[in-house]
Amino acid sequence: MTEHPLISTNNLTVSFPLGKNLFGPRQYIHAVAGITLDIPRGSFFGLVGESGSGKTTYGRALLKAVPISDGHVKYNDDEVSYDLAEITKPELKDYRKRAQLIFQDPYAALSPRMTVRDIIAEPLELMGLTSSREETDEKVRAIAAKCRLNLEHLRRFPHAFSGGQRQRISIARALVSNPKFVVADESVAALDVSIQADVLNLLKELQQELGLTYLFISHDLSVVAHICDQVAVMYLGRLVETAPTRELFGGPKHPYTRALLSAIPSLDPDHVSMAQKLEGEIPSPASPPPGCKFHTRCPYATDVCKKEEPVLEHISDAHTISCHRWQELDFSESA
Ligand code: SF4
Repeated sequence: MTEHPLISTNNLTVSFPLGKNLFGPRQYIHAVAGITLDIPRGSFFGLVGESGSGKTTYGRALLKAVPISDGHVKYNDDEVSYDLAEITKPELKDYRKRAQLIFQDPYAALSPRMTVRDIIAEPLELMGLTSSREETDEKVRAIAAKCRLNLEHLRRFPHAFSGGQRQRISIARALVSNPKFVVADESVAALDVSIQADVLNLLKELQQELGLTYLFISHDLSVVAHICDQVAVMYLGRLVETAPTRELFGGPKHPYTRALLSAIPSLDPDHVSMAQKLEGEIPSPASPPPGCKFHTRCPYATDVCKKEEPVLEHISDAHTISCHRWQELDFSESA
């Protein structure tokens, strides 16, 4: 992996307006609130957090699939460099080839009325990436083979396939335009555990073969631990901790990260769980609490936590954290 980031976000903010308020200023939901993060080239970068943490909106913003309210998203490969906050229409058309999404639900993502060949070919035709049917077919066959689909599969309709096979079709469709960056949003969540491993291994193989960089969004930390090399943890639209996977799972520093990790079930029947139960619900992004956004659920919150929002600071080159008390808290005994 090189040090050079493929994607850099700087103070990225994505806000959605709520209905009009007759008696005051218009309210906004800040789904992503000022995220600064680098995604290195060639990385399998995990993004975790509960539902409502903003991780899906962050992923969509990197694809320019939601409007960017503030800040910047810089994309930089060997050929082009774009700032998605200022991208022009022709540049966006080109960016669509370079950045793709693998959907969560392989059952809903594929049109039941199209053959597998037409499903995979559609992005090539929409983006004008081939000049003849023969060329399209050649590209479809090539990516299908890489995704372990055979020629016979291409003639069939999606209903003839299992969940794992359908997800391989979705992956082939996402990769047929030869992207460099792929957002995989809960891409194995709808699959049985035995099938998950097969699809994860395929994603890893394709990463090596095609030089891909992934943003892997998941609520399943055991999957993230298995596949990702770096992890960022989000809470209420903000980053709370980022680190190399081993470092994060070996010694979480933020109370929220620690609570998420301690909730991973153990296969060891003699394991005595020291799980820190995460009480309550994540607050609404329409009315986030003052100070540290996690203070309403954090067992270590003090007065300063309720008043001042902590900034994201570097513990080491690759490890960042946003907590007033991280230096005092020691989770090593209870991990
Ligand atoms: Fe908990 Fe305070 Fe740290 Fe927030 S800043 S995570 S409330 S200890």
